[in-house]
Amino acid sequence: MRRRRNAKIIATLGPATRTTRQIETLHRRGADVFRLNFSHGSHDELKALIGIVRKIERKHGRPIAILTDLQGPKLRIGTFGGGQATLRTGEKFRLDMSRAAGDGRRVSLPHKEVFAALEPKHHVLLDDGRVRLRVEHRGRDYAETRVVTGGVLSDHKGVNVPDTVLAMKALTAKDRRDLRFALDNGADWVGLSFIQRAQDVAEFRKIVKGRAGIMAKLEKPSAMDELDEIVALSDAVMVARGDLGVEMPPEAVPTVQKQIIRHCREAGKPVVVATQMLESMIRSPAPTRAEASDVATAIYDGADAVMLSAETAVGAHAPAAVTMMERIIRRVEGDPHYRSITEASREEALGNDADAITAAARTVAHTISAAAILTYTTSGSTTLRAARQRPDVPLICLTGNRNTARRLALAWGVHAVVTGDVRSFDEMVRRAARLASSEGFVHKGQKVVVTAGVPFGTPGATNVLRIYTV
Ligand code: PGA
Ligand code: MN
Repeated sequence: MRRRRNAKIIATLGPATRTTRQIETLHRRGADVFRLNFSHGSHDELKALIGIVRKIERKHGRPIAILTDLQGPKLRIGTFGGGQATLRTGEKFRLDMSRAAGDGRRVSLPHKEVFAALEPKHHVLLDDGRVRLRVEHRGRDYAETRVVTGGVLSDHKGVNVPDTVLAMKALTAKDRRDLRFALDNGADWVGLSFIQRAQDVAEFRKIVKGRAGIMAKLEKPSAMDELDEIVALSDAVMVARGDLGVEMPPEAVPTVQKQIIRHCREAGKPVVVATQMLESMIRSPAPTRAEASDVATAIYDGADAVMLSAETAVGAHAPAAVTMMERIIRRVEGDPHYRSITEASREEALGNDADAITAAARTVAHTISAAAILTYTTSGSTTLRAARQRPDVPLICLTGNRNTARRLALAWGVHAVVTGDVRSFDEMVRRAARLASSEGFVHKGQKVVVTAGVPFGTPGATNVLRIYTV
């Protein structure tokens, strides 16, 4: 089952999509990656979903990536007597560590790190920024604030502190349990939420030890100050516009999105644009024009993948949302203007063998009108360098490593196929050509461009380029 597009689709699973039939429908319609969210659902439920995805993968014979998303240090307030309270603009409001039920004048915020780091004039945003407070002064376990924008607040609403860097680890105790579960159950990617600094990613790397790809979710303004280091330390990046758009003004999100995509493309790291992409399809069978345009913009910018969250997790039209993304992506990728933008924004090859070969492969494939580029890889790094060149022919990845094939389901333009071990370059070329034709990418008589590292099994040692006629 081949896809006829380059950009990939991530679908979040949830109550609306938990049976084999529902999930298989999403995969048929175009979902390449399934996201499981540790903010919702028990380990038993997630384990059942992973089992279903792997069953579908076996049936269709196409590698599927599973992205497990850790909740991270998401801050929440406590409860109110009666479940909610009204905060009035201009009045005082106190946040503290008391367990007593809150009211219109105070509520519990059971995170002492927050009180240690808040300063006068810092903002505290509640319920996705619907209610805004400004700190007037604070003690070790409380903060006195002024209500800048009032409103109704209910129990356990989320809290964002955009101006504050917290002395908090990126992993909570729950995250550590969830991470162990994810690694034990074959997650291909692990999403790291609310990272504040590059150090958070560096520590995470030491725990994950290459057992899954690390996807850094950029949703804090402070992370933008260390963008280059974060991209360098991560295997992929998510533009997490939900929380990012709470912590930053909405008008900042489009430029930040483009900035993150540019940095990731330069580094050759897959980048995902996420949240509210087809938001109205949670209820409605068709998106707004603005939403269609938003998905298209991410594709024109060169994102590797676009993500559906509530649209597929709880939405009433989950399969239609995937189909809509598929159609928007194909329409954009068929636009001659898209090709010229992609050409104009192509990254220079760096001065190493892998880049020299993969950049040449792109040029050769274009010049001789080859039907595909074939890369043979163990770790996936050669294939990602080839994808970084954004070739204008399909990019087929052959690998003996199933985990590599699954991880690459996220990457722009990559069609990965698992093959057994090959002993010689000639055997690899013959096998690659046979696969490319059985997968429908080439016909007899057409040419393909093949790259690999010889001898096999030396990671990153890409040094051969061959033209082969099928
Ligand atoms: P979330 O992350 O859905 O886990 O919050 C994405 C975002 O914040 O956009
Ligand atoms: Mn988020």
